[in-house]
Amino acid sequence: MDGQQTTSQRSIVTTAKKSDIEAQCEAKGMRMTEQRRVIARVLAAADDHPDVEELYRRCAEVDDRISISTVYRTVRLLEDAGIIERHDFREGRARYEQIPDTHHDHLINLRTGEVIEFSSEEIEELQAKVARRLGYRLVDHRLELYAVPLGDSDKAKN
Ligand SMILES: [Zn+2]
Repeated sequence: MDGQQTTSQRSIVTTAKKSDIEAQCEAKGMRMTEQRRVIARVLAAADDHPDVEELYRRCAEVDDRISISTVYRTVRLLEDAGIIERHDFREGRARYEQIPDTHHDHLINLRTGEVIEFSSEEIEELQAKVARRLGYRLVDHRLELYAVPLGDSDKAKN
């Protein structure tokens, strides 16, 4: 049952972030070259958390004149503009995703590197409660769960 719930929550967060990166760039007055548009579209179409190399591969399929340094620069620009979010899932490389309309957290499968999106009202409430207890109003948080599949716990001790 839990598994079913997770699946439906995942599809909700995935559809919720399909807003238009290009339009957001224009709204922020960013100069949009053709190459930047391609990168923006590739990012908007991604429902995973690609790193720059993966983004570069996807962009090059659309326009092979795009260089990896252009992808790096554009990604940094979009991050600074608050349009995409950088994640560090302890792999030594940054991963990116469009800032979603609805908040979600991540579980990283240490065996496969798969990143699973989830949201938990219990956790959200608990975090706000903890902050309040410490005398604060929670405004943001990041949560990453690093996990191995059930039944794989013995091999997890590394
Ligand atoms: Zn995510």
